[in-house]
Amino acid sequence: QPLIVPVALGDRGYDIHVADGLLARAGALVAPLTRSRRIAVVTDENVWPLHGAALRRSFEAAGLGVHPLVLGPGEASKSFTVLADLCDALLALDITRADAIVAFGGGVIGDLTGFAAAILKRGTGFVQMPTTLLAMVDSSVGGKTGINTAAGKNLVGAFHQPRAVIADTALLATLPPRERQAGYAEIVKYGLINDPAFFDWCEAQGRRVLALEPDAVAHAVAQSCRAKAAVVAADERETADVRALLNLGHTFGHALEAETGFGTALLHGEAVAIGMAQAFRFSAARGLCPPADAERVVAHLAAAGLRTRAAEAGITADAAPRLVAHMLHDKKKLGDTLPFILARGIGQAFVAKDVALAEVERFLADEL
Ligand code: NAD
Ligand code: ZN
Repeated sequence: QPLIVPVALGDRGYDIHVADGLLARAGALVAPLTRSRRIAVVTDENVWPLHGAALRRSFEAAGLGVHPLVLGPGEASKSFTVLADLCDALLALDITRADAIVAFGGGVIGDLTGFAAAILKRGTGFVQMPTTLLAMVDSSVGGKTGINTAAGKNLVGAFHQPRAVIADTALLATLPPRERQAGYAEIVKYGLINDPAFFDWCEAQGRRVLALEPDAVAHAVAQSCRAKAAVVAADERETADVRALLNLGHTFGHALEAETGFGTALLHGEAVAIGMAQAFRFSAARGLCPPADAERVVAHLAAAGLRTRAAEAGITADAAPRLVAHMLHDKKKLGDTLPFILARGIGQAFVAKDVALAEVERFLADEL
């Protein structure tokens, strides 16, 4: 039985469907969401050879033809050049606003396809079919879409909600283990933000999630989607502080990604794991959070095979000022402070607006 998580956004609301083997039913789920019987499926060169035939069978069984648009894998595809080519290809297929474009891949394919859908004909429909753990628990839900530019990541984009999210957790079997672990960091994040019972569950069952036991993965994905859906429903466009809580570990983490060149040295989720450990250690050092909670966070991430210290990613003490400079690059400064997501304990994250840059730099230098 698929788990269905609604995203409550009025007439733009939609369902997230999660189940092992759901791909077989994806055609039937997509068919009512699109007028055209020929579906543009945007995907990448890793995903399509592995799972394209099964998607095609499912869609054809529901009376839908498939037109695959297969892009190069990886972050480089979130560019103006690839976006332009994709828009041209979609327009050549006579896509209308009543159609739904399907994004079949990880967060790169989802962000790019969602943005193309947002701007084509001033907004066409799209459906997210995430194939990475990170995309299933994070990027496919919530309507943030976009591309990267020379000035930085995700700086050009739009809010555009999908018509549905269809997550077949069986597709994760082919995902490289490192990508799986990186996605797991974002699952743990939801427990750390405001759901201590879910963090307890992760401590007890995380091993089964990482081993891809179907019931454990389905629960972890659905619970993460529930958490994200609640935040998105409360603060769709990040105008209050609510959606900002999803950035737990991300200010520290982005700085580490920037320092290591946004490459394979440190995947996004791996950087977020270190960033969450740092946010908890920093909170403990400020006397906000019991040190035992910070130790539990670090222990669980390490048990999941994730690194928890910047030094483990080869970053040395002299990097502290550069890390702070990276933080300034992607965040708005308030005087000489930056907003940070800190925690009073596990499941008690909050937005702190009194963190001085000098204090962060000292903390990082001490850590390294
Ligand atoms: P990704 O899309 O690059 O996928 C990671 C790798 O796994 C790629 O090489 C891909 O080809 C491969 N892959 C995907 N599914 C596979 C499968 N089932 N089997 C084998 N290989 C598979 O990366 P990602 O981690 O999914 O997403 C990262 C992107 O998501 C970033 O661009 C980030 O900015 C974005 N993101 C967006 C949001 C949002 O709210 N929109 C949130 C978080 C992250
Ligand atoms: Zn993230």
